[in-house]
Amino acid sequence: MFDWLIVGAGFAGSVLAERIASQRQESVLLIDRRNHIGGNAYDCYDEAGILVHRYGPHIFHTNARSIIDYLSQFTEWRPYEHRVLSSVDGKLLPIPINLDTINRLYDLELTPEQLEEFFASRRETVEEVRTAEDVVVSTVGRELYEKFFRGYTRKQWGVDPAQLSKSVTARVPTRINRDDRYFGDTFQNMPAGGYTRMFHRMLDNPRIKIMLQTDYREIRDTIPFQRMIYTGPIDEYFDWSLGRLPYRSLRFEHVTLDCEQFQPVAVINYPQTENYTRITEYKHLTGQQSPKTSLTYEYPTDIGDPYYPVPRAENEALYKRYEALAAACPEVWFVGRLATYRYYNMDQVVGQGLATFARIQQSLPANGTV
Ligand code: FAD
Ligand code: UDP
Repeated sequence: MFDWLIVGAGFAGSVLAERIASQRQESVLLIDRRNHIGGNAYDCYDEAGILVHRYGPHIFHTNARSIIDYLSQFTEWRPYEHRVLSSVDGKLLPIPINLDTINRLYDLELTPEQLEEFFASRRETVEEVRTAEDVVVSTVGRELYEKFFRGYTRKQWGVDPAQLSKSVTARVPTRINRDDRYFGDTFQNMPAGGYTRMFHRMLDNPRIKIMLQTDYREIRDTIPFQRMIYTGPIDEYFDWSLGRLPYRSLRFEHVTLDCEQFQPVAVINYPQTENYTRITEYKHLTGQQSPKTSLTYEYPTDIGDPYYPVPRAENEALYKRYEALAAACPEVWFVGRLATYRYYNMDQVVGQGLATFARIQQSLPANGTV
């Protein structure tokens, strides 16, 4: 009899397995239907010896000291500030849109103050900013929205930005200075030995048993456990009884080339052309030296593993109904991007995992006794 069954060995499941085993001294069976731990943050060395991310580029960034301190028990860090270029009108321009983006796009020499006026003259008045389109047109105007956001968003989500909630494009700021970093967080570092090595260290505890290539449905009636943490899709847990929650997926094309460098930065976005949204070159993330280089092309699709909850009012409403079903199952904790249907970054999932553990500590005496 295990004290806990944890479904999913990504950030959510692994943080909770680690906390429960090390702080409560309780036994955990951690399962995942994939053949590896780490969830979508999984990385591994490819045939060329380059550390690649199987599920697309994962860049760690956060402002939360408690999350840095927690993860630093399991990894050293390598400084890395993410920079992205966008392929627009035949030029490679910084995204988020900044002073250099506009000056290079239009062959101008604006100062930050003049750029402020430039945006002011172009932005549209939107009474209530509700959609992913509203956010951008009310900040930089329609032309820049169409060049940098509309095509990318249509590809990525399969719907027009006007159909998506504002939280989607609000992730990308607009700057009037020359800061070309993708993220503004105080802590921007990659796990020095990669994510998978960090996960191995988290889960290196004799009280944690790991079963891979195992779906929850295969074992739920045969392996006894007292309590459960579930980090898979919430609608699947309830047998889609209220209908399917949409999740967006990606098809990844991984390639290795016989050249040292393919592109000037780790990620280039393609908002206007191509069927893929972006190309990632991993050596920029790891600092590895090699005569070869490895890339990933991302093709968005509806079919395949669930990667992104789709932020729209109607989906949020359906999720709320599943959340009510979950609230009626007090012996199961639902955690993570899929089980709480939230477009969370890694640090937010770690934070949610640690907060869940604090609630478990408050509500349950240790060692499985009620
Ligand atoms: P997941 O990592 O999805 O883990 C859930 C696990 O549960 C999976 O391994 C799955 O196989 C398993 N599972 C599900 N159902 C079952 C079942 N029934 N039985 C057994 N196992 C099951 N975040 C950042 O901070 N920075 C980034 O740069 C970044 N880039 C991203 C790029 C892409 C392409 C994607 C898709 C996400 C990105 N993220 C990024 C987000 C990041 O991946 C997530 O925040 C984080 O990995 C979520 O962790 P999780 O444990 O909630 O879910
Ligand atoms: N986005 C865009 N053009 C870009 C970058 C982002 O239209 O060049 C939009 C797109 O809808 C994307 C969202 O902004 O899904 C959030 O971007 P982010 O880089 O955070 O996406 P993620 O890394 O989570 O895929």
